[in-house]
Amino acid sequence: MVKMFYEADVNKEVLNGKTIAIIGYGSQGHAQAQNLRDSGCKVIVGLRPGKSWEQAEKDGFVVCSVAEATRQADFVQILMPDERQAQVYRDEIAPNLKPGSTLSFSHGFNIHFGQIVPPADVDVVMIAPKSPGHLVRRVYVEGFGVPSLIAVHQDHSGQAHAKALAYASGIGSTHAGVIETTFREETETDLFGEQAVLCGGVSELVKAGFDTLVEAGYKPEIAYFECLHELKLIVDLMYEGGLARMRYSISDTAEYGDYSTGRRIVTDETRAEMKKVLREIQDGTFARNWILENQANRPSFNARRRLESEHGIEQVGEKLRKMMSWLNKE
Ligand code: NDP
Ligand code: MG
Ligand code: MG
Repeated sequence: MVKMFYEADVNKEVLNGKTIAIIGYGSQGHAQAQNLRDSGCKVIVGLRPGKSWEQAEKDGFVVCSVAEATRQADFVQILMPDERQAQVYRDEIAPNLKPGSTLSFSHGFNIHFGQIVPPADVDVVMIAPKSPGHLVRRVYVEGFGVPSLIAVHQDHSGQAHAKALAYASGIGSTHAGVIETTFREETETDLFGEQAVLCGGVSELVKAGFDTLVEAGYKPEIAYFECLHELKLIVDLMYEGGLARMRYSISDTAEYGDYSTGRRIVTDETRAEMKKVLREIQDGTFARNWILENQANRPSFNARRRLESEHGIEQVGEKLRKMMSWLNKE
């Protein structure tokens, strides 16, 4: 059974009087920094000059360079984009990391794939909220917290786990529950989920459905509603009560179509390909490709981004979303 931790399991004293440096102030950084501060922790923010720096100061934080924040910190939480972390770690964090301090992440990529190799005299942990940053903050402000995963990669102090749990409590996660994992499990499942299901799988499914309808002569506007817009309504139901709640809420005709057709779309061939995708994550093929892609200044990534933006579903979507005033708030 999976190990779960709650507020009663937390020993807050392990972070008492400690300085936490949040490196990066984007989606996760702004949320984790503010939650920890509101929980009574001493938080500073490490950044380069720019947009995020201004925002963090506006939010009332002491902001300094990554090197200086690391020097002052007992607990360093790295919340920069994953593909930037290795270089900033090498140049600014490693030379300033205090012996006995804790180096921490919200995703295991750089540790698991050996892009960051910490010294032996620090703890290395992960606290990974299972939620986008804005929700990490919003749910905390409402008096609760989002679930998180925690993991220990290296336990120099003998207190690595307790510190990770105290941090998780500071961002609110012990209200919801904290699940123990490993860097390997978190990294591989996170990459697999976003590639096969959440991002890659869903985007292609939506486009394939849209293209099929449009090529058969149906109006792109109608195809957009059926294949993209309504997805949110379905996913909301799954999120609230699993597949059963979604199937309870849809018509019996839709439910019959679900059972009779779903497996003709996600076929044995698709499942075999999913296994291959997982193997390429496990054996480092995906990580190597993404690291090299970044070193080459992202030629495939940039080209693909442009091509995707030119797809018909994006053109018609832009027009249709203007009709839905409640979507244009931000
Ligand atoms: P963002 O892209 O939102 O934030 C990046 C931040 O890093 C910005 O404040 C940026 O500042 C700063 N930054 C970039 N380069 C540097 C640099 N060279 N020196 C100093 N600061 C720099 O990142 P996320 O919050 O999305 O991701 C952070 C971590 O959290 C990742 O490990 C990710 O996998 C993990 N995670 C993210 C989730 C999410 O919902 N987004 C969910 C769970 C985990 P500037 O304005 O100067 O560019
Ligand atoms: Mg991810
Ligand atoms: Mg319908």
